[in-house]
Amino acid sequence: MSHRCRWPGCTAIVGNDLWGCKPHWRALPDSLRAWIGRSYRYGMDTDTHPTASYVRAHRAAIAFAREVERGRH
Ligand SMILES: [Zn+2]
Repeated sequence: MSHRCRWPGCTAIVGNDLWGCKPHWRALPDSLRAWIGRSYRYGMDTDTHPTASYVRAHRAAIAFAREVERGRH
């Protein structure tokens, strides 16, 4: 089982137990990585029913990623 890296615009394919590809995962702040790591295993049994905690962590990560991308252009 695999899915696309969750970083906006990234097309790397990663395993289902990972949030995103290695460089993008590393680009996230430690606090966000810890938050996602904690909620991920409980939240991602299926893609359709993530836990509320995971959804919040994921949204925070996406918001961070967008800021980074905006700074780059
Ligand atoms: Zn990526």
